[in-house]
Amino acid sequence: MAWLKRKDAEPVAPVHQLSEEEFQSLTRLSATMDALPLGVVVLSSDGSTMWSNDAADSLFTPQSDDHLLFVQQLEELLRDALSGSTGKTELEFGESVNRTIEIATVRLADGGAAAIVEDITQRLMIDRVRTDFVANISHELRTPIGAISLMAENLIAEMGDSESARLSEIILNEVTRLNETVNDLLELARIEFDGLSKREPIHTARVIDEAVGRIRSAALAKSVMIVVEENPDMSVIGDRAQLVSAIGNLIDNAVKYSPQGSIVKVEVRREEGRMLISVSDNGPGIAAEHLGRVFERFYRVDDARSRGTGGTGLGLAIVRHIALLHGGDVSVTSEVGTGSTFTLAIPAV
Ligand code: ADP
Repeated sequence: MAWLKRKDAEPVAPVHQLSEEEFQSLTRLSATMDALPLGVVVLSSDGSTMWSNDAADSLFTPQSDDHLLFVQQLEELLRDALSGSTGKTELEFGESVNRTIEIATVRLADGGAAAIVEDITQRLMIDRVRTDFVANISHELRTPIGAISLMAENLIAEMGDSESARLSEIILNEVTRLNETVNDLLELARIEFDGLSKREPIHTARVIDEAVGRIRSAALAKSVMIVVEENPDMSVIGDRAQLVSAIGNLIDNAVKYSPQGSIVKVEVRREEGRMLISVSDNGPGIAAEHLGRVFERFYRVDDARSRGTGGTGLGLAIVRHIALLHGGDVSVTSEVGTGSTFTLAIPAV
């Protein structure tokens, strides 16, 4: 372990004052720390000394501008951690070549503080390229999808009751499904790319109204009644469009998987500083072995049923992403043959 920076001239206990056993143990600890791929920097409890492992030292050219700035900001974060304020911070360095370093600080049992330091530049770049790729591909697909839909509709209108009209109808259904998948992919790419760019106070009553409004005609077509039981005073900070989409996806699923003439219940309550929105249905339920996976992209419990109901397999992945962006989560409880309850939890204000 090297000194990244040391305020005092000598360590608190100079090496020659250590017993053989203490020296061995220190050597082993140093070797272990230096073998770690992640940077680790430790500040002593009195704030006088700062130690770092090889991975932290090799992040920047010693004494370069970036290195000095990094050490200065790191020390500030570690001092904040000493006084109890710990957490994760992303710092940008470099003018021509940008680098992003993530620093997570924690308090140590001996009163000192430690920082886990990671260069996440490449990870962010890969995420960006992947998100751009999905967005570009979705745009490229939308134009031909629009054209094929239009042509299939024209064929249906012109062919009357013929076999060709029936085939055109199949084409139209498949293209409609493809269009929904592209739309969901595009939405997922957008929320991944933009993150939570808007943070405004939002009344739950309004977002739920808007979400229910979007699903109303599908619910009417199945004679499913959507009952909203809510506390009108609840509000959260976030992106209104994203929350409408998340809640809309949950209600849409509940309606899709509900039997004709049943009830879908939307409840809002406050619990331990969080706003909980639950959407319950009397649908087929989800077996326990699938519950942990339904939030994965393209995961479907019953592929045939999901395709039959027009599902893209992306709805719950979108809901989960939005929940996490808002500092919340989404969970599900379900019983096969009885129904499911999906609960979106967002920090309340
Ligand atoms: P899909 O578009 O296929 O509905 P989702 O991501 O919204 O995709 O959901 C993933 C899978 O979880 C669905 O295919 C379905 O099997 C299951 N699922 C979601 N919501 C419900 C529900 N309310 N009742 C029963 N199964 C559900």
